[in-house]
Amino acid sequence: MKSSDIFDCKKCGECCKGYGGTYITAEDIKAIAAYISAEPENFVQDYCQMSGSKPVLAQGKSGRCIFWDEICTIHPVKPRMCKAWPFIKSVLTDVSNWHIMASACPGIRTDVPDEVVLACVRRELDQ
Ligand code: SF4
Ligand code: SF4
Repeated sequence: MKSSDIFDCKKCGECCKGYGGTYITAEDIKAIAAYISAEPENFVQDYCQMSGSKPVLAQGKSGRCIFWDEICTIHPVKPRMCKAWPFIKSVLTDVSNWHIMASACPGIRTDVPDEVVLACVRRELDQ
């Protein structure tokens, strides 16, 4: 089974809701700042909130990510974390995370055997 057989994003924006989810790396900051023509030095101050010592994308007025506006407005350069979803390491650690994630993400299929989920996550992480 292909990864696209077990996950098909419905573009509902549920995963872009709330505060604190989306950690960004220095590379993410560089890429997003260039894409939106912002100064990388001011990016954390203008578009992020701190979660402990790490910056996460700030929440906009809609209660969703500051870059959500009916769609992800930075789709080509969205943070690595958003690009990887839902093929993430924590599923390999415990496959029940796939099912927990599915309860908030309508694009995730849960009617496939765990071995198939694990094989797809491994394949995506290897790329
Ligand atoms: S919650 Fe799932 S289906 Fe909805 S936008 Fe996010 S990844 Fe796509
Ligand atoms: S960067 Fe895009 S995909 Fe990621 S949380 Fe924000 S709006 Fe959603």
